[in-house]
Amino acid sequence: MSSESSIHTRLQHLGTAPCDAQHPVAPVGLPSIRTSTVRFNTVEDLENTYKRKSRGERLVTYGRMGMETHAALEDVFCALEGGQRVFLASSGLGAISMALLSLLSAGEHMLAADCVYGPVYHLNNTVLQRMGIEATFTSARDPQALEQHLKPNTKILYVEAPGSLLMQMLDMPALAEFARRHELILVTDNTWGSGYAYQPLALGADVSIVAGTKYVAGHSDLMLGAVIANDPELIKTIDTNQYAMGFSISADDAWLAIRGVRTLPVRMEQHARNALAVCEWLAQQSVVRQIFHPAWPQDAGHALWKRDCTGSNGLMSVALTMSADQARTFVNALTLFGIGYSWGGYESLVQWVDTGALRSHAYFDAHAGDNVQVVRLHIGLESVDDVIADLQQAMQQAGVL
Ligand SMILES: *Cc1c(COP(=O)(O)O)cnc(C)c1O
Repeated sequence: MSSESSIHTRLQHLGTAPCDAQHPVAPVGLPSIRTSTVRFNTVEDLENTYKRKSRGERLVTYGRMGMETHAALEDVFCALEGGQRVFLASSGLGAISMALLSLLSAGEHMLAADCVYGPVYHLNNTVLQRMGIEATFTSARDPQALEQHLKPNTKILYVEAPGSLLMQMLDMPALAEFARRHELILVTDNTWGSGYAYQPLALGADVSIVAGTKYVAGHSDLMLGAVIANDPELIKTIDTNQYAMGFSISADDAWLAIRGVRTLPVRMEQHARNALAVCEWLAQQSVVRQIFHPAWPQDAGHALWKRDCTGSNGLMSVALTMSADQARTFVNALTLFGIGYSWGGYESLVQWVDTGALRSHAYFDAHAGDNVQVVRLHIGLESVDDVIADLQQAMQQAGVL
């Protein structure tokens, strides 16, 4: 298998156990290699390992860096994202912290898209500010409009596309061009695309972050984050900071993620197909005011999605003309949709979004009155007919159908 092989092929062959003259009988999958420390046969072996490691080889001198199971998962992320190196963290938010704390210093400024994952605001309010790092959150839909927010100490442009909650597509190549012109590091959260539906590094981003918790793992049973980069200087900086801060994941979680990611393409395509069928049904209901899903032709970001993405997924938000009471009844009446955060597992989920929080998004219709409610739906791998029937009966119970 070469690095030119299709990602569908690579995801089935990366991270399998060696089967060769040395291992004439072997299992298919790599085992989970759990260890805290590693042992060296001789002092010379230890010295040699450090020497080779200092020249940049991925060698293990302590359990925190992980052994073959971790290395296999790193290969998977590199293949998905088109990256040279990946740094693992125990959650997606941990990966975001790792990237920002590695790349920002006291006295520096981060320009951030307002549509990023909510807890990034919390990270800013609680940690970055305390470290003397300044941040400005603003719409990134028009890259040129970002210019007015630049400061002499702006170091990072931090974005996420499509954005959390309203799935705003951003013009990644234009943002990359803007970042280059102003010598900023473009960092993007690619959890939505998870390396399969969107490859921001190929579109000019410097650092891509993926919450592997979502589609990579795919089974709602583990937490995982990854920071992926190509530039040798950036890699060196993140490497030394990751080491300093002690980010690490368990071998079992790496093993589970490898097991989950083998089916990433088939899962994502089924999620995407189901989601589009749900969009088609929703669009015919008068209670539906707007659908936020970039693969949906009426979505404001559809042209960018068509140009830049290689697939879609099961995530969408829907603005519904109903009262808060009706929304409560609707969400409670759903039987196939679990009420919960997160997404990317096999099952459908619903989250009733606080529209107050959306009003600061330039993307949301500021004139939407109190009778507009937004729900985020993750369309799972159930039969889409059953999913639609569930939405229908819940709307009937809410009295809006
Ligand atoms: C869920 C999510 C994260 C955080 O991942 P965790 O593993 O839950 O910490 C980051 N970014 C986006 C876009 C997410 O949806």
